[in-house]
Amino acid sequence: MSNPDPSELVPQVDFETDGRHEGFVRLFHSTHASAYGFLPIPVVVFRNGNGPTALLMAGSHGDEFEGQIALCKLAKSLDYRGLHGRVILFPMANFPAASAGLRTSPIDNGNLNRCYPGRPNGTVTEQIAYFIEHVLLPKADVVCDLHSGGSSLQYLPSALIRRCPDPDRYALHLSLLRAFGAPHAYITGGGNGTGAQQTLRGAAERQGPLLIGTELGGGNTVSSDALRIAERGICNVLVHAGILPESMQVAAPPSRLLEVGGPEYFVYAGETGVFEPRCDLGDPVSKGQLSGTIHFPETPGKPAVDQYFARDGTVLCKRVPGRTTRGDCLFHLGSELSGDDLG
Ligand code: CA
Repeated sequence: MSNPDPSELVPQVDFETDGRHEGFVRLFHSTHASAYGFLPIPVVVFRNGNGPTALLMAGSHGDEFEGQIALCKLAKSLDYRGLHGRVILFPMANFPAASAGLRTSPIDNGNLNRCYPGRPNGTVTEQIAYFIEHVLLPKADVVCDLHSGGSSLQYLPSALIRRCPDPDRYALHLSLLRAFGAPHAYITGGGNGTGAQQTLRGAAERQGPLLIGTELGGGNTVSSDALRIAERGICNVLVHAGILPESMQVAAPPSRLLEVGGPEYFVYAGETGVFEPRCDLGDPVSKGQLSGTIHFPETPGKPAVDQYFARDGTVLCKRVPGRTTRGDCLFHLGSELSGDDLG
């Protein structure tokens, strides 16, 4: 790989010596209110000898909270002396967005998980993406990226991996997914316009570490059930990576494995109006089944528009707000994984 330009962000923690190191990554940002100031992005490093490194991230989207809370709790409970290797906590990855409780940055509207590989001297969000891709990811063997549904979506608490062409790498990801122990676990193939190269998944494929993601609850709220699943999953990932001892493993029932494929897995609003859902999270549905209805209160006599599922599956994700605009995602499904994909 060619030598990348250095990141402009300045970590104020020691990644390489044993102990617990809590501090900030400084992102210099000159504004009307603070001419020479920096944005303090929190980071905590635990290291005990040479061994594998886990990078635990939350707040890529600032309105997704279970991961942020789980990492706050871990920042206080983890004892570096019990580790083999290193754990890096990065709980407010898009710091301006997480500070504001918003999906995207109020500074530049940047969606961190669509910004990779970023730019060393780009917008604030691009600079954070560049730092994660070129400074944090190369240190990591395994990355856990803790997402929830955000303000507009609600998920069945799930862990996920992305399909990758290398069968050995796919098998490693699948065992990580099983180790996490979420009630639902799914494999994505992309195809819903997320621009995979611009996501952390694309960055991890370029830089090498294994990556597991989550979708825990959502709706701009905190679910105590989803938080418990996150805390258990993080602990089990650290055991699976060999960083925590086997005795720390938390028992979990086997995950129900699903996959999420192309556009037929998604239902999008075809009209702008008020959305009436006709099914709930976890429901089994079939192709052609009514998913919801869009009403037009501005024109009460106008016929409502029904929206249908385009394939069979289980409802994994559902839109939260009632008002909807043409193009919004209303639902997405998961389908049973075929035996060939189970590794
Ligand atoms: Ca998210």
